[in-house]
Amino acid sequence: MGKLPRLAIVGRPNTGKSTLFNRIVGRRRALVSAQPGMTRDRLYGQAEWLGKAFEVIDTGGLMEALDPSPDSRAAGEIAAGILRQARAAIDEADQVIVVVDARQGLLPLDEELVRRLRRTGKPLTLAVNKADSGRQEVLGSEFHRLGIADIFPTSAEHGRGVDDLLDHVTSAFVAAPGAHTDAPETSIEAGDGLGESPIEVAIIGRPNVGKSTLLNRLLDEERSIVTPIPGTTRDAIDAELEYDGHRIRLIDTAGIRRKGKTHEHQEKLSVIQARKHLERSDVALLLIDAIEGVTNLDANIGGYAYESNRSVIIVVNKWDAVPNNQEAAAEFTKVVRETMKYLDFSPLVFISAIKGQRLRKLLDAIVQVAAARRYRVPTAEMNRFVQRLDFERAPTPGGKSLRLYYLTQAAVSPPTFVAFINRAGSPHFSVERFLKNRIREHFPFLGTPLVVKWRRSR
Ligand code: GDP
Ligand code: GDP
Repeated sequence: MGKLPRLAIVGRPNTGKSTLFNRIVGRRRALVSAQPGMTRDRLYGQAEWLGKAFEVIDTGGLMEALDPSPDSRAAGEIAAGILRQARAAIDEADQVIVVVDARQGLLPLDEELVRRLRRTGKPLTLAVNKADSGRQEVLGSEFHRLGIADIFPTSAEHGRGVDDLLDHVTSAFVAAPGAHTDAPETSIEAGDGLGESPIEVAIIGRPNVGKSTLLNRLLDEERSIVTPIPGTTRDAIDAELEYDGHRIRLIDTAGIRRKGKTHEHQEKLSVIQARKHLERSDVALLLIDAIEGVTNLDANIGGYAYESNRSVIIVVNKWDAVPNNQEAAAEFTKVVRETMKYLDFSPLVFISAIKGQRLRKLLDAIVQVAAARRYRVPTAEMNRFVQRLDFERAPTPGGKSLRLYYLTQAAVSPPTFVAFINRAGSPHFSVERFLKNRIREHFPFLGTPLVVKWRRSR
């Protein structure tokens, strides 16, 4: 294979370059830290987007020696320092993504950096990162002042907007001839996961299902290292535990413990919290009360979990308080499946938070589901899968024949596939369901939603 096109990620410290890098490369190996200037284990990664292979350079890793605090020196001097160290990487790059922080807004250092980057003559694309809540704020924002025409709001942490960004920066890259057949090492990351970023877990559910009890249990039961970590939002305190070599971060412990004043207030709060916690998580634990059974509010919160595209584990709690045999479990499962059809990909785990029963099973499920969310199907296996797939068998309302030419996994977290077919627009949802079901049968995507994008190919 010839030399791959190169993409460099540049920006001042702590804007999310490393997070974006990991997102693009599709694995979470590089360390991300709330402290600027933290050591990273690598700078270069290979990525593929819609069949185009390219190399990504995280220039953030080149800034270690630099004092990252903007107060200590003039912006100009710091910008010069950043670029001096990243210069070689930028010189090699075909495209440069400049990352800024939507929360902090435009800083003098950003302006200095862009002014200097412009002199390199490289095509610049602006990623306004940490735009977690939406694109509106960003599109009408001060970042236009930087004079970069191509602006993309992103949430590197949640993967939002990264697909549009990649569509844009790779548009001039040519699909390398070897790109499809060359399968990189892509199995589920096994072994010691401690170097990875933590699995972010949200505990959600209506009042009194046992969210706080579960939280307390997980934190004191496991011989875990519990560290209070200030979350990305000011008032949220996260806690992290170690399980089987993996870091599991329970987000917003204060929020989970918070109780509403009245019954109605409690219910509203549980929905607000669920939506907020889903925003930040990889995996959501949707708690259901075994005594009460599945209620409308459970289904309501489950619906938000589904819409958020997070991975979901349905946790049936208080299993100590009901006749807890196999039959009861099967019956409960049936009811859950019927009332929450949209969460059909979520495994069920039956626990007793109060007695600490089957918490290991729950923790195992969390690790497994998190790995599935980050799983990338090796290209060669994907091609084999498409060859054997009896796509003509897919239900095609309207009767027009539908052909699938090519399928590629464009992203992880959640696993996102692009299907090239002989028609414009999305086919009937039953076709999409057919494809997703086949993908699930063949690859280990437990607990994660799958996203399919349809493109016409001639
Ligand atoms: P870098 O120094 O530019 O490489 O920044 P990092 O990738 O290390 O990220 C700095 C901090 O910002 C970390 O705590 C990340 O978790 C956080 N971060 C990165 N991307 C996002 C995002 O899209 N939203 C939010 N809320 N935080 C993010
Ligand atoms: P939250 O409102 O979802 O945070 O629920 P809590 O953790 O405050 O629990 C509500 C009630 O359910 C409390 O009285 C708990 O003692 C009880 N509870 C929690 N987990 C269990 C369990 O596993 N079994 C039983 N029998 N009761 C539980």
